[in-house]
Amino acid sequence: MKLLQMALSIKEIKIMPKNLASYINLTKECVPAGMFAKCCGEYLGPDYIEPLEGRSTFDVERTCILICKNCGKKYISRYD
Ligand SMILES: [Zn+2]
Repeated sequence: MKLLQMALSIKEIKIMPKNLASYINLTKECVPAGMFAKCCGEYLGPDYIEPLEGRSTFDVERTCILICKNCGKKYISRYD
């Protein structure tokens, strides 16, 4: 059941915010999280993915922002 929930949340990935500056601004409110972030008893899927803005995936270790749907807490994690 947990795997199904994760698959569903991956399908709902939103690429907003498109702007790197607004993304970085949003990460300031985030708490660092591991690969399988859990909040309020549920696994979190990525809500925002760091925009590349012309940078290569070889140059940047992209991060993503995860937002808990229950409490609204924001987390930042590595995006692989
Ligand atoms: Zn939560």
